[in-house]
Amino acid sequence: MLIGIPSESKQGALVAATAKTVSQLTNLGYDVIVESGAGDLADQPDGAFTAAGVRVGTTEEVWAADVVVKVNAPTHEEIGRLRQGATIISMMAPGRSPELLEELQAQGVTALAMDAVPRISRAQSMDVLSSMANVAGYRAVVEAAHEFGRMFTGQVTAAGKIPPARVFVVGAGVAGLAAIGAASAMGAVVRAFDVRPEVAEQVESMGAQFVELDRSVFKAEKSSDGYAKEMTEEQRAATAAMYDEEARAADIVITTALIPGRPAPRLLTAETVAGMRNGSVIVDMAAANGGNVAGTVADQRVVTQNGVTILGYTDLAGRLAAQTSQLYGTNVVNLLKLLTPEKDGNLTLDFDDVVQRGITVVKDGESTWPPPAVQVS
Ligand code: NAD
Repeated sequence: MLIGIPSESKQGALVAATAKTVSQLTNLGYDVIVESGAGDLADQPDGAFTAAGVRVGTTEEVWAADVVVKVNAPTHEEIGRLRQGATIISMMAPGRSPELLEELQAQGVTALAMDAVPRISRAQSMDVLSSMANVAGYRAVVEAAHEFGRMFTGQVTAAGKIPPARVFVVGAGVAGLAAIGAASAMGAVVRAFDVRPEVAEQVESMGAQFVELDRSVFKAEKSSDGYAKEMTEEQRAATAAMYDEEARAADIVITTALIPGRPAPRLLTAETVAGMRNGSVIVDMAAANGGNVAGTVADQRVVTQNGVTILGYTDLAGRLAAQTSQLYGTNVVNLLKLLTPEKDGNLTLDFDDVVQRGITVVKDGESTWPPPAVQVS
C-alpha cells in the first residue's frame, strides 16, 4: 500500500513523518510519498526524504494514496480529496467532532484517530497525546522564561543575592510533569497541585513540592480511565483559597488542568490574577479548551492592567516542530507495526484488539465511534 504524508494546513510546522520514520514505514513493506515542502519547518527538507528512499510529490498524488497520515484532523477540502476505501490517520478529537466524523463517513473512508489510543500501558508507544503534552509542557516553561525576562535560578554573587523564580504548576499530568522538570532544571523553586493525590510522588521526583490539601476531600480522584473527574463543590471551596495564595506568591503560573470531554475547569479567578505581582507570567495550557484562568484568550498574549502576562498559546508542541514531528512519527510507526503484522505493506484492523478498536472512528464509511469502554491497566 502507498502511504501519503501531506503538508499540514493548520499549525503547519509539524509533519507526520521524518526521514527516519519513513524508512521504518518502508521496512514494514509500505511505499511512501511525501508532499513537497511538508517537512521544511521541521528540519525535514525534501532532500532528506529522497535520501531516505521515498518519493516527494504533489498534493494530489499524496491525497490519492491508500493511507494518508497527518497530524491535524483533515479539513473539509482535504476529506474531499480522499478516495473511497482509503484510510486516514490523524488526530481527530472524535468526542468533540461530530461533523468531522459525518464527513468521513460520507466519503466512504476508514478513519483512525491517533488521539483515541486507549491509555493502557501496552499502547504508550503510540500515545501522541503524551508525546505532544510532554513537548508542550517543556515549551510552556521556555515561553514563560522568555516573557519573564529574568533568571529562574537563584544566585549569590559578590554583587548581591538573586532569589530563585517561584513557579506554580496546576495539574501534574504529562504536560504538568514536563513543565515541573524543565522549571526545576532551570533552577526555579517549583510547587505543584493536582486533584489526583496519587501523583504527589511523581511531582516530588521531578523536583517540585506537592501542595497538600485535606486528603479526605481529595481521595483517589481518578476515574476508571486514569483521568481526573470534575471537582465537587466541597473540593472547589477547598482549592479556591489555595490557588489564590499560591498564584499571588508565584512569579510564573503554568496551568494544565483538563477533564476529558468537558470544558477546562476555571481555577484562577479574575481577582486572583488581579492580586498577582506586576511582571509575573501565566501560561494557560488549557486555553484550547476554554482555559483554566480568567482572562485567557486562546492563541493570544494578554497583559492585564496590573501587568500580568497571560499566554494562551495552543501551538506549544508545534513550536518545537522537529522533535514533536519525530515523536509523532514514531508513534505512527508503532501503530502501523501493530496494524501490519505480516510486514507486507498491508494495513489490517483487528477489532478484538482494544487499541485497534479504540482508534477506529469510521470503518468503510460506517461510524464506529464511540468504542466500548476500556479499563486502564
Ligand atoms: P489531562 O491532560 O487530561 O489533565 C492534566 C492534569 O490535570 C491531570 O493530571 C488532571 O488530574 C489534572 N486536573 C484536572 N482537573 C484539575 C483541577 N481542578 N485542579 C488541578 N488539577 C486538575 O491528563 P494527561 O496528562 O493526559 O494524563 C493524566 C494521567 O493519565 C497521567 O498522569 C497518567 O497517569 C495517565 N496516562 C496514562 C498513559 C498510558 O498508560 N498510556 C498515557 C498518558 C497518561
